[in-house]
Amino acid sequence: MIRHLYVHTPFCAKICPYCAFYVHQGGVAQQREFVAALREEWQRAKEEFPLTLETIYFGGGTPSILSAELFTELTQELKISSKQVRHPELVEGSVQSAFVPENRTDPHEFTLEVNPATVTDEKAAAWRAAGVNRISLGAQSFDAEMLKILGRQHAPRDIAETCALLRRHGFENINIDLMFALPGQNEETWEKTLQAALTCQPNHISAYGLTYEEDTPFFEKLSKGEYRQDEAREIVMFERTRDVLGAAGLVDYEVSNFARPGFESQHNLGYWRGEDYLGLGPSACSTIGALRWKNVPDTRAYAERIAKGESVREELEEIDSAIRIRERIMFGLRMREGVASALFSDEVQLRKLETDGLALEENGRVRLTLRGQLVADSIAEMFV
Ligand code: SF4
Repeated sequence: MIRHLYVHTPFCAKICPYCAFYVHQGGVAQQREFVAALREEWQRAKEEFPLTLETIYFGGGTPSILSAELFTELTQELKISSKQVRHPELVEGSVQSAFVPENRTDPHEFTLEVNPATVTDEKAAAWRAAGVNRISLGAQSFDAEMLKILGRQHAPRDIAETCALLRRHGFENINIDLMFALPGQNEETWEKTLQAALTCQPNHISAYGLTYEEDTPFFEKLSKGEYRQDEAREIVMFERTRDVLGAAGLVDYEVSNFARPGFESQHNLGYWRGEDYLGLGPSACSTIGALRWKNVPDTRAYAERIAKGESVREELEEIDSAIRIRERIMFGLRMREGVASALFSDEVQLRKLETDGLALEENGRVRLTLRGQLVADSIAEMFV
């Protein structure tokens, strides 16, 4: 049974110079084409797969760029049909009991990624009516200079105003996305951003260090020496993040994700726990059983193929259980709940992580120590 749905909306008002997602600008005509194609892809998927959706995640791109009318059209047939979140790990083990969403009146999760300054009362009302109950706000920084460097279109005050507008429409479950280790950023400005984010009273904060993705203007600047990476400073910022957010009651349930107990992202937990998910839209990935594929990363080709009744799937890959176990270890180690020790077939590798002080085995589960979290990406590479 597939419980998680991801929808990729490829449109952005402007392309940020660090972004490597499949995104582009597009007018209303192309957005209409996309919505019609996506609805058709959804109809096909419903016939093909057993679906009992518990989480829906609209990412991108900027899904909040769609008009209220188009968003309503896009979502009118998407339904979360189960009445309970039933992650097996939530009910089986004591380690995970802290993750039961006891503070939530509605256990279903329908997340929409929203960019500040793209929200209107009309759109927020349409999102509520469609069943959206979690907003992920792409704030990135509360520092005007940093936002300029990142090429973002909003100002710091837009973030607080957007939060206030969302709350007026009943959105209580709000995540704020932030980035650190930015060019020209220091520990003090990063801490100010964290404190400013907390004044918006989010239930969840995602804080990722900037990565320089190939084929982006940021990568080019790094290659030319205009930007420099400073690992030591990045570690200090990471530690500051844990301290500031921890003191505010946000628990680091994953290396880069912090939540009030009960407000962890159920959708992302699904990915990290290796559960199946269906992805719709251009460039969206799906993993179902032993198969993984990516949809064509071209909105025009995607819409044309759907209209002709053709498949939009590419890069079809068979993933055996060894790959799935490796991925569960890679993602599981990053979570506070860790990963079952039984998944490690290589005892030597596990003991080495322990003796190096990077991981800890407790009650049949393995998780990273603070030292391990600082080098989580390098540890993940050991399992690729
Ligand atoms: S708004 Fe987000 S998805 Fe769009 S270009 Fe910027 S970083 Fe990429």
